[in-house]
Amino acid sequence: MPLFPQSFIDDLRLQADIVQVVQEYVSLKRVGNSYKGLCPFHGEKTPSFHVNREQGFFHCFGCNVGGNVFKFLELHEKVSFPEAVRLLAQKFGMALPELTDGSRDPQADAEREALLKMHEAAAALYREVLAGPSGRRARQMLEQRGITPETIDRLQLGFTPPGRDTLLNHLRQKGFALPAILTSGLAMQRDEGPPRDRFWNRLMIPICREGGSIVAFGGRAMEADQQPKYLNSPETPIYTKGRTLYGLNVTKGDIRRLGYAILVEGYFDFAQVVQGGTTPVVATSGTALTPAQVHLLRRFTSKAVLSFDPDAAGQGAAVRSCELMVQEGFQVSVAVLPKGEDPDVFVRNRGGAAYQDRLRSARPYLEFLIDRAATQHDLNNSASRLEFLNSMLAVAAQIPSAAARDQFADRLAHRAGVGEEVVRDEIRKAAVAKRPALPVRQSLAGFSELTPAERDLLAGLVSEPASVLDALPELDDRDLAGSSVRHIVALARDLARELAQRQTAQAPETIPGMLLERLNEEEIALVTGIAARTPRPAPAIDCIRALRRRRYERERADVQREIDRLQERGGADSDEFAALWARKRSLLNEIEALQ
Ligand SMILES: [Zn+2]
Repeated sequence: MPLFPQSFIDDLRLQADIVQVVQEYVSLKRVGNSYKGLCPFHGEKTPSFHVNREQGFFHCFGCNVGGNVFKFLELHEKVSFPEAVRLLAQKFGMALPELTDGSRDPQADAEREALLKMHEAAAALYREVLAGPSGRRARQMLEQRGITPETIDRLQLGFTPPGRDTLLNHLRQKGFALPAILTSGLAMQRDEGPPRDRFWNRLMIPICREGGSIVAFGGRAMEADQQPKYLNSPETPIYTKGRTLYGLNVTKGDIRRLGYAILVEGYFDFAQVVQGGTTPVVATSGTALTPAQVHLLRRFTSKAVLSFDPDAAGQGAAVRSCELMVQEGFQVSVAVLPKGEDPDVFVRNRGGAAYQDRLRSARPYLEFLIDRAATQHDLNNSASRLEFLNSMLAVAAQIPSAAARDQFADRLAHRAGVGEEVVRDEIRKAAVAKRPALPVRQSLAGFSELTPAERDLLAGLVSEPASVLDALPELDDRDLAGSSVRHIVALARDLARELAQRQTAQAPETIPGMLLERLNEEEIALVTGIAARTPRPAPAIDCIRALRRRRYERERADVQREIDRLQERGGADSDEFAALWARKRSLLNEIEALQ
């Protein structure tokens, strides 16, 4: 991805007065330290849209959007981040620098440009062929699959005729050189043979970047014996498979608006689901998601619903995707379809409304895991039942909240047909013995669900970045385990490290702006909302002490429960009991020292 140098973005952000920029679209009134106006992102009669000039952010208390000056333009002008940077640079008379990307040079730029143009030309040709006489069979096939002409248009579907050099000739006629055509992956050459089209006699599905440029194709076979059934473009200078999510260009607005994304596997699943009226969808193309894809999606939402057929959902790729998303802070649920039906078949047979019902009954991923493991074990057999419980204990120990762990325990007990208390005890023990190394992050809490210490720490990152960054080394990662602000604080710390390495003069005043550029929208709104409500946050070091105390108190409660449990069972003279007491005493000392 082409990037502007961070120093340029920092300079521009400092130059660009957010009040001046917003005022071009919204009439603002000064109220104390900030500015107020009618929100341009939702209809309202009393102003709840705030702009803070000094701290460089806006926030609407009505629809809960917020961000810095770039985000305002992205949302208002519906442009990408680089486009917002370009617009602002123009407005404030700053010359755009060369894009940084290590390898970038004018020649590489020209090559990329040519590759994009070739893909555009190819897609146009494929569409034309599909609409023409030789596209009749492909049109029939689409009709049989229930794809409407509107969807064909929307997804820019096309068809390559059976000839082996139709596209090649077309591109040459348009003046593209053979080496560039071969680089595009649209044609290929084996050994000394003549160059040929890669795709022929296939239904063509353009794969786009999130911004809409076509960078690759998926080609579906027309004949039953045509191999492979799906042929995809190879990776090229403009296309990396693991960085692209099919359909995001079409659905990203809906994903943002509705606050979640549905993950399906294939192109036709995607087409049917969108056509059936469910719009926040992307397709994974059947492989496990890569971290880059998860990060890409995270820019739009942190809630995902997995919708594969039940066989596929239980398989490696889907499980790996779920685990990765949970680790990356996604709230993941699973919508199971009837056996043997993927979303394509399901929507065709039962309609879009039935599909939406299924989505409404999606279950949290952790529950899904229990059910899946239960089907893999014979729960009437005691050895197998124990194996089932043990495999789930490992999952349970990762759940940070005691209440959620108990809930998980009850479900487990129910499945295994054992007493709830037994399972709760085991899980508590596992959790005390092994504090989760990688807690499942809860979905982002709202303002009111955060403790004052969490709120003030976030507000401080915006209004007093220097003093918060000074205090952050005091913060132990475990102090924020299970907290929904953990990711935000960790990112601020990374940014501070990055700045220290660059040794720019602007640090750390650039931190709030950079932070707002790297968080997802939900997180941005949380941070700007807190900052707008908390003009004078408590000192960071006090917040950190409060967080540490809370952690010790939680641990103490866990230890106490264990002590009670042992006492009830008459285990009060065991070594385990003595060790628990020692742990409790040392926790009490720590807590007292933090008063
Ligand atoms: Zn609003």
